[in-house]
Amino acid sequence: MIQHDVVIVGAGLAGMRCALEACKELDVAVLTKVYPSRSHSGAAQGGIAASLGNSEPDSWEEHMFDTVKGGDFLNDQDAVEEYVKAAPRIIYELEHMGCVFSRTPEGKIAQRSFGGHSKPRACFSADRTGHAILHALHEQLMKNSRSVKIYNEWYMHSLVIDGDQCNGVIVSNIQTGEVEVIRAKAVVFCTGGYGRVFKITSNAFASTADGVMAAFEVGIPLEDPEFVQFHPSGLYRQGILFSEAARGEGAYLLNDKGERFMETYAPSRMELAPRDIVARAEQSEMDAGRGINGEDCIHLDLRHLGEARIMERLPQIRQLAIDFLGIDCVTDPLPIQPTAHYSMGGIPVDNNCHVILDSEGTKMHGFFAAGECACVSVHGGNRLGTNSLLDAVVFGERAGKSVLEYARGRDFGNVNEGQEKARVLEKFEDIFQREGSESYNQIRDEMKEIMMSHCGVFRDEQRLKTCIETLKGLQERFKKGKVTDKGKLFNTEIYEIMELGNMLGMAVIIATAALERRESRGGHYRTDFPKRDDKKFLYHSMVYDSPDGLVIKTKPVVITKYQPAERTY
Ligand SMILES: Cc1cc2nc3c(=O)[nH]c(=O)nc-3n(C[C@H](O)[C@H](O)[C@H](O)COP(=O)(O)OP(=O)(O)OC[C@H]3O[C@@H](n4cnc5c(N)ncnc54)[C@H](O)[C@@H]3O)c2cc1C
Repeated sequence: MIQHDVVIVGAGLAGMRCALEACKELDVAVLTKVYPSRSHSGAAQGGIAASLGNSEPDSWEEHMFDTVKGGDFLNDQDAVEEYVKAAPRIIYELEHMGCVFSRTPEGKIAQRSFGGHSKPRACFSADRTGHAILHALHEQLMKNSRSVKIYNEWYMHSLVIDGDQCNGVIVSNIQTGEVEVIRAKAVVFCTGGYGRVFKITSNAFASTADGVMAAFEVGIPLEDPEFVQFHPSGLYRQGILFSEAARGEGAYLLNDKGERFMETYAPSRMELAPRDIVARAEQSEMDAGRGINGEDCIHLDLRHLGEARIMERLPQIRQLAIDFLGIDCVTDPLPIQPTAHYSMGGIPVDNNCHVILDSEGTKMHGFFAAGECACVSVHGGNRLGTNSLLDAVVFGERAGKSVLEYARGRDFGNVNEGQEKARVLEKFEDIFQREGSESYNQIRDEMKEIMMSHCGVFRDEQRLKTCIETLKGLQERFKKGKVTDKGKLFNTEIYEIMELGNMLGMAVIIATAALERRESRGGHYRTDFPKRDDKKFLYHSMVYDSPDGLVIKTKPVVITKYQPAERTY
């Protein structure tokens, strides 16, 4: 049996920042199914928020208010306050670790505008901000390699739980197929989001809900899963992100008639209204037949920015559009559409990243979570752009501190290695033994299609019910799938099947929670209940598993400074 004081699953921003903290005193393992610098954090483009006030006076209070208003007042405000206050320190620390930020002419960290933020507060490295931070953190981890062991291309299957205590994880080495148990005093999940359940998504292939579903399977509820963010500018049909930074720099959105239609939907903020509002505006234009050439896309026009500015501020995404669409944004407008982008919900944690089981804050001892897989909840019903990299670094650091505090001087728990291993070996065997005829690829495609069309930007009771029924049918067919590669070595097919199993489970949870929330708030919009309903629904959903199916309980929203008010832009 492998043993480490702490196992961190995930090597994105949250996981690596957490490891840097925990390794100050503990023996740390970081486990990741993709090489650390391939984690989805590295794809982040536009920026990371902090009220540095480098281009206009700014304050943490304004950052907090924008975040809470952007989240449609579902955010836990005590957590938001601590988080925005930490932001400036976090940025300077990243800078001192070697992260190269773009600069103002006088040499300060440059800051640009982003949707829903009333001040320019996005710190950035051109349009490769995630890449710059991820590599800076990776270098720091390398420097600490004596106390951190990185398990590259290892897959986490399941948690080892004893009552209300987490004692480790069951994992396998993707290269050899060997299953192992890692015993640990504490486990931290930093496994990222689950955008891959949707057909059109900006998310990397690894964003498949493994972490959240592993937690769910041992009785931990999932908080606010119905809140999924659709980003307004995914490249048409590809979903690949074209950063909001483009609109931050001044790009326009145009319908087929050449109108800047945001005038109708958010006259004061125009293209820089929060993402949920812009994505709905685009979808409404397309549904009304004003998509470009009647198709499901809108134009993003950058031409007036000029080549010099585009090359200085947005070079990577210009190239992405040339490579994937054959269109150069210097000379032509880009066809874009809403793309599934971010998971506001996740594993419920307290403000110190300890995983909790209910609205009373009962802890699962020894289990922590941070980053996109966790729900603190600082983003409420809709996350503002650039607030997520900040979330991953602030709460990654915090999880590291909490784990240090927790694991210091503590003994390892009991683990029955044979029994735990057998559970996962059975999962493998079950898939290998199936002699079914169903194609897993077909099932995956159908899941993505129905989630996009029936649980997307606009939802209603009928569509959600059909969605859930279809997904349950797919879960049945999943049991009758056929695997073609039965080898042990680097069998990527088997891992894709396990990921698909997790995504199907997650999709049902998203759609069920969306059906039960009979109001519209943030990223969750019900055409049959188009208004926000604070009397009935100002709470977090907590979705539990039970023998009779999913059960949804509630958890109160923490409101400190800002009372819910109508959200206009
Ligand atoms: C295209 C794109 C652009 C974005 N741009 C911005 C931006 O400009 N600003 C901003 O604030 N936010 C942005 N976001 C959001 C932000 O990047 C993410 O929310 C954040 O980086 C998530 O970090 P994380 O550490 O939680 O997870 P990730 O970086 O997603 O890392 C997840 C880790 O978990 C590991 N993992 C998962 N499952 C398993 C398993 N079963 N076994 C082993 N390992 C596992 C993966 O290998 C990976 O290392 C963007 C997102 C996307 C998709």
